[in-house]
Parts: sequence; structure tokens; C-alpha cells
Amino acid sequence: MPKRSSSSLNPKAPLVLDTRELPRRPGALRTVKRVVQAPADLGGELIGVPEGTDLDLDLRLQSVSEGVLVSGTVSGLVRGECGRCLREINDSVAVNVQELYAYEDSTTDETTDEDEVGRMQDDLIDLEPALRDAVVLALPTNPLCREDCPGLCPECGVQWDDLPADHSHQQIDPRWAGLSQLTRTEE
Ligand SMILES: [Zn+2]
Ligand SMILES: [Zn+2]
Repeated sequence: MPKRSSSSLNPKAPLVLDTRELPRRPGALRTVKRVVQAPADLGGELIGVPEGTDLDLDLRLQSVSEGVLVSGTVSGLVRGECGRCLREINDSVAVNVQELYAYEDSTTDETTDEDEVGRMQDDLIDLEPALRDAVVLALPTNPLCREDCPGLCPECGVQWDDLPADHSHQQIDPRWAGLSQLTRTEE
């Protein structure tokens, strides 16, 4: 198996976890509680975590024989647009993370694909890809401001919520009202 080049991760990046403090002895545990700035494009096209807003990391790093198991929650704000009425959605999201990152040159490293099991780079773990997947999964593909959002009137584009219950574009010009009455009687 070809050797990967040495770590390209920046230990100061917000979603890079440094495990130097964590003894490589199965069972050893460290917690990571910190608030970091959300990276760009965390989420989907219609809804996601705005770049630079606070992400709350509440994680456990646990040494296992083949690497480090990262588990816990990451939470933050989400902003998006209602797919029906285009109103802005402001909400929050909390995702559970549970990922194994294999030590370089461990059996897991040699016998699994990087897509299946994450890899450590030296003592560093890049949480961003796993977090990105978890956030995308947690967010709706068709975000709605509320479950029963009635959307927009297709004729005038005004939100149904802001229109009277009898709003309609079928109103007849008063000058023709009489004629219409006539037609109807004939039918
Ligand atoms: Zn809506
Ligand atoms: Zn209308």
C-alpha cells in the first residue's frame, strides 16, 4: 500500500482534533468541549449552518486498539429558506457523531478503505467530512417553515398566510358581472 504523505492537516483548524493528549492505550479517554466557527458549505443547498456561526462540540475521544473513536454531539444554528413560501427559516441542529479513526499503519488502516473507516494523520483527526455528512443527513432536503405551510398564491405570489381566506383571482369585472349572471342562468 502506498504511503500517504505526512499530515496536511492544520492542527489549529476548527474541526481538526488533536489527540496528542490522549494516551494510545485502549480505554484512555479525553473530552473535547469547545465552540468553533462553522466552515463554509456545512449543509445543503436550501438549508445549512451559516459560515462563521458557532458550532458547539461536545465530544469524547476514546483510544481503541486500532485508533481513536470519536463520539458525541455537534450543534449549531441553521438558516434556510422555506421551499413553499420562501420565508427565511431559522432553526438549530444537533447531530450525533460516532466515527472511528484508524492509526496510520494499523491493521485497520491496511485492511479497510478510507471511505469505510476514517484515518488519523499523525495525531490529528479531521472531523469535518464526517460532520458534513451528519449535518446533511440531519437537515431536510425540502425545508419548510412549518409542516403545513400553505405556500404562495400561484397568481400573485403573495403568501397565503397573509391573504384573506376568500382570496381568489376569479373575481369578475363588475361591468361583466351582470352578463355572467345571465350566462349562468342560461346554462
Ligand atoms: Zn413556508
Ligand atoms: Zn393571489
